[in-house]
Amino acid sequence: MVALMVCALTFWPNWSPLQAASAARIDTPAQAEFRSQTLPPLGFAARETRSNPQANAAPGATMVAIAAAPDRPRVDLATTLGQGDSLGRMLQRVGVGSGDAERVSNLVAGAVPLADIAPGTRFAITLGARDGPGEPRPVDHIAFRARFDLALDLTRNGSALGLSSKAIAVDETPLRIRGLAGSSLFLSARAAGVPVGAIQQYLQTLDAHMSLDAVQPSDTFDLITAYKRSAAGEAEAGNLLYAGLERQGHQELQLLRWGDQGEFLGSGEMDQGGGATSLIMPVAHGHITSLYGMRFHPILGYTRMHAGVDFGAPYGSPIYAVADGFVSFAGVHGGHGNYVRLEHGSGLGSGYGHMSRIAVSPGMRVHAGEVIGYVGSTGLSTGPHLHYEVYRDGHTVDPLSVHFAMHAGVDHATQAAFKARLAKLLLVKPGAALSPLGSGRSPAFAGPR
Ligand SMILES: [Zn+2]
Repeated sequence: MVALMVCALTFWPNWSPLQAASAARIDTPAQAEFRSQTLPPLGFAARETRSNPQANAAPGATMVAIAAAPDRPRVDLATTLGQGDSLGRMLQRVGVGSGDAERVSNLVAGAVPLADIAPGTRFAITLGARDGPGEPRPVDHIAFRARFDLALDLTRNGSALGLSSKAIAVDETPLRIRGLAGSSLFLSARAAGVPVGAIQQYLQTLDAHMSLDAVQPSDTFDLITAYKRSAAGEAEAGNLLYAGLERQGHQELQLLRWGDQGEFLGSGEMDQGGGATSLIMPVAHGHITSLYGMRFHPILGYTRMHAGVDFGAPYGSPIYAVADGFVSFAGVHGGHGNYVRLEHGSGLGSGYGHMSRIAVSPGMRVHAGEVIGYVGSTGLSTGPHLHYEVYRDGHTVDPLSVHFAMHAGVDHATQAAFKARLAKLLLVKPGAALSPLGSGRSPAFAGPR
């Protein structure tokens, strides 16, 4: 450095940019100078190697071998339980010995079933000093969240590991959010703080009951989703529980998750079956050969809506009225062939096509189970079967879904339970679940999840 400074001063008037010096241009005094500026051990090792190529930085006069590298007294690490992983395997992967891994697993299993620990759970682990070279490090401390509401802590105390568990307060007040639909229901709900998954469930539920195009910017969305938050600060959204849409202060749609299959039913659907009537099968031993929905029509040769359900049944089998009602049509009806249409009240109707013979006439009252005709193959039909339709407010609906809805609403106890749950859910204040969990909070909501 001194030499370079001298040069720079000497040639001051002709100052030019510094260039990287190649090794060949550094003379012996300069090399010594550079060496004195480097980290001494590295410099000495380099000199040692040069003077004795066989040594190759081996211990020499200036470098003394030590018996072993000093071990760090402790190691702090973090690891995550993988999908399909086990606690023991995960511990061994980060260097815990098999004995300790087994001890930890057994201790934890005493507090919580190991299968309950969710993949993705993070573990903070401290390993202590080894007893000897090559030995695995002993577990000094492990801390993790075994469940949403439970923290576990394992600490070494002498030669034994002790386990302490800490319950974490969890509040399950459902998350209710209301707001104006605006130009984009999705963006408005997102801006109002609705979790994306809940918005998707809400839109799917709405879509199954009305046209999403019919939602107006001035409509109010109202959704309630299962929600839990812990005193440690995390929150988890669960399934959508309620989907509502209001228009000018009036309930356009009120849908409640109901039953094990997670269907959404409206209070209207619950009332419909309230008269203790349930649909009976329109043919005695028919089996369904074609469902409601889009299908390729074998005679027309193209895909079109199949607006009913087909029951395969022998030619001449009796066809029964599915519910009490009156005959609004009986006669030849285009592709339906010989066709009977019944009206059952509350906007519900049923239709029966391809009959070989009709047994009723328009205006007649019929009772559930009464014979109204016989299976045939008239109209657009490839063989004897009953084409059975259900109408609601003049439009066909899937006959199997109506069958379900009417059964679901049959008894008054179910209706009462439905109304009670709806009323209870609607007591949840919008945004209540977003307030901080702590002092003065209401007791944990113990409602449906
Ligand atoms: Zn059909």
